[in-house]
Amino acid sequence: MERFTGSFTQQEPIPEAGIEAAIAVLRHGRLHRYNTAPGEIAETALLEEEFAAYTGAKFCLAVASGGYAMGCALRALGVVAGQPVLTNAFTLAPVPGAIAALGARPVFVETTANLTIDLDNLAEMAAKSGSKILMLSHMRGHLADMHALMALCNRLGIKVVEDCAHTMGAAWDGIPSGRFGVMACYSTQTYKHMNSGEGGFLTTDDPQLAARAVLLSGSYMLYPRHRAAPPPEVFETIRLDVPNVSGRMDNLRAAILRPQIAMLDDRRARWNALYQVMEQGLAGTEGLVLTSRPAAETYVASSFQFLLPDWSADRVRAFVARCAARGVELKWFGAPEPVAFTSRYEHWRYADPQPLPQTDRVLAGLIDMRLPLTFGLTDAALIARIIRDEVGQVAQANDLTVEAVPLAD
Ligand SMILES: *Cc1c(COP(=O)(O)O)cnc(C)c1O
Repeated sequence: MERFTGSFTQQEPIPEAGIEAAIAVLRHGRLHRYNTAPGEIAETALLEEEFAAYTGAKFCLAVASGGYAMGCALRALGVVAGQPVLTNAFTLAPVPGAIAALGARPVFVETTANLTIDLDNLAEMAAKSGSKILMLSHMRGHLADMHALMALCNRLGIKVVEDCAHTMGAAWDGIPSGRFGVMACYSTQTYKHMNSGEGGFLTTDDPQLAARAVLLSGSYMLYPRHRAAPPPEVFETIRLDVPNVSGRMDNLRAAILRPQIAMLDDRRARWNALYQVMEQGLAGTEGLVLTSRPAAETYVASSFQFLLPDWSADRVRAFVARCAARGVELKWFGAPEPVAFTSRYEHWRYADPQPLPQTDRVLAGLIDMRLPLTFGLTDAALIARIIRDEVGQVAQANDLTVEAVPLAD
């Protein structure tokens, strides 16, 4: 019986250019973004300029995390305590967490079988809640029809903030993800598309929002040192009104990240090659449904999802356990208790309880897998063979007690 022995959590090392630049920052000791020698431009300011150029956004702010970027975006938009904020029911905990951090109320929207936000339900929940803000999570890199979504939100007067934690380098109809909403948030945490341990970006074309975000992040009166920010005049009228909610990025992380921007497109190609091998290996597996990827979507497949529709919980549990015994680490979003990152909307008890039958149906059979770039194509093919085999075995099994799969080969 075949077994996989690789690690699902091992990312690639930091590129040598990033290591060198990081060591230079450590040697001079000016890690704080506003601590610069005469004539020096901080790594953080350069990173912002370069990331803005990569996405095509006018303004960019580097911050301490993706979660911070989301909270900062909502604050910049003037979201206050008690205000309803629409968001995906299927997302990760930092998304509703960013809403809750402001004392605002997450209002969850149903999920389609393609793991995107359901636009009919979005209109319904917008009407019911009166919310004028959507924190749109491109969860696991699946993009909704962005033209239809923006047309709907514009018609309803809803401002869209994009959570691009899984879509850095992705596009819809050729337009980069993050360029549709009024603001976009990115993460550079280790498991995302660029790795600085922790970190994030906020981008926008709106000078007022950009200035508010810079002040919020803790710029004191040093905002003229930013390069991908609006000119100082824009700050003058608001600089004493916007509170400092410190969440800056530092020059060490910026140094690690700068060389990774130019690697994003190559990483996308390599991730998608792994994804396509998985897709081919699993195509036509009875009982297993792959998510369909629309032609307009340029995705970055840093993870892989499939559905086991209408499988009983016992059957899914047995399947996940048997794959784990063969070295294939899968996460199940339908488990009654959250495991690792798989908590779902009903586990977030700080939010108002909401019935979401369609999302429940999708998540009950949703399997999620990391696809680190340390895997090769033969690894992806082997993983797909194991999954295919186990789907076949478990789908037909009458006895679902998980048999001891021999650990040695
Ligand atoms: C990781 C993640 C975030 C937040 O990023 P952090 O940098 O970890 O705070 C937001 N949304 C999604 C969907 C994520 O996966």
